[in-house]
Amino acid sequence: MNKNNEICHCQICGLIYEEIDLGEICVCCGAEFGYDDEEGACGKTIDVYRQKWFDTGAALHYAKSELIPQNWSLNTLKIQLANIGFNLTDEMIAEIEKNSRKR
Ligand SMILES: [Zn+2]
Repeated sequence: MNKNNEICHCQICGLIYEEIDLGEICVCCGAEFGYDDEEGACGKTIDVYRQKWFDTGAALHYAKSELIPQNWSLNTLKIQLANIGFNLTDEMIAEIEKNSRKR
């Protein structure tokens, strides 16, 4: 929890954190907090980073982390993203699966 006793989420992948420290790397999506999750001048940084992550198959950055739910899957990701108001559609999931096979 942060100072306001709110649950923190990675703004890219929606993973829950007790607190988020700037400069740390998200164990799920690999985004750097305070950098990749900031709205850029064009307001697109978060969306762009997330899309890039999807394009590479949404691989876990550090799968061994205890912060990652067990048996993490794209359905888990769908729930994570719903927490931050992002709707991961079946089409997107199919696209990510396709991309992950290309790796
Ligand atoms: Zn993340």
